Amino acid sequence: MRMDVLTLFPEMFEGVFRSSILGKAQEKGLVSLRTLNFRQFSGNKHSTVDDYPYGGGGGMVLQAEPIFGAVESLTEGLESKPRVILMCPQGETFTQRKAEELASEQHLIFVCGHYEGYDERIREHLVTDELSIGDYVLTGGELPAMVVIDSVARLLPGVLGNESSAVTDSFSTGLLEYPHYTRPASFRGWEVPEVLISGHHGNIGLWRRQQSLLRTLRRRPELLKQAELTVKELKWLKEEHGYEPDDVSAK
Ligand code: SAM
Repeated sequence: MRMDVLTLFPEMFEGVFRSSILGKAQEKGLVSLRTLNFRQFSGNKHSTVDDYPYGGGGGMVLQAEPIFGAVESLTEGLESKPRVILMCPQGETFTQRKAEELASEQHLIFVCGHYEGYDERIREHLVTDELSIGDYVLTGGELPAMVVIDSVARLLPGVLGNESSAVTDSFSTGLLEYPHYTRPASFRGWEVPEVLISGHHGNIGLWRRQQSLLRTLRRRPELLKQAELTVKELKWLKEEHGYEPDDVSAK
């Protein structure tokens, strides 16, 4: 998979793209991560990419020309056009489902904004998706693009050492993940739950599933409404943990 990032600050990506799992994924040839400074496409001798907003008001607006030019330089001659994703606090809120959807693509282009905003024609005529990483405003789209790229890349086959870890991650199952413990079995008098050192895989699986359900009930009860629960699990949550679903249908 290839991911290109259009940014005025390519140096922000250097450490992130070279380090840890993203760095290794690139070394293994599983993903190619590149940046392109769209200032190169400004088309004027001062290399400016922003201008005052029509109608007045504060802040500068990113111009359409450099961003169209940069995207077109990457897509020219391609038979299938990649998705062009605008990082924007007004966009669709990014979720694990969206990460899974994007991980099935071959090529993605991310556009990172700065300043007050984008010329609206970029939104209307160039991009295929608008993504927000949450209801707060950052100074630029670089950190949000890194968040999305990291979460998409780790879903690609071979990127994580242990393939099963992405499958049991929080949100992948529709629930929050169960608690983890590692050695020592006793730390400052706090013991690892007995079941985890029992070696009984059936009981461990059951304990993890129940912990996952309980943690989701306590921290994010709204997720349970979408989760696939068995009749037995639903009964257990209701009778022993006071869960009161309004519109849950057990499967
Ligand atoms: N004036 C804009 C508004 O109210 O929607 C906010 C502009 S923000 C200061 C500058 C850039 O940061 C945005 O164009 C976008 O690329 C990025 N950005 C800021 N917050 C973001 C978020 N929550 N998710 C995605 N991108 C964000």
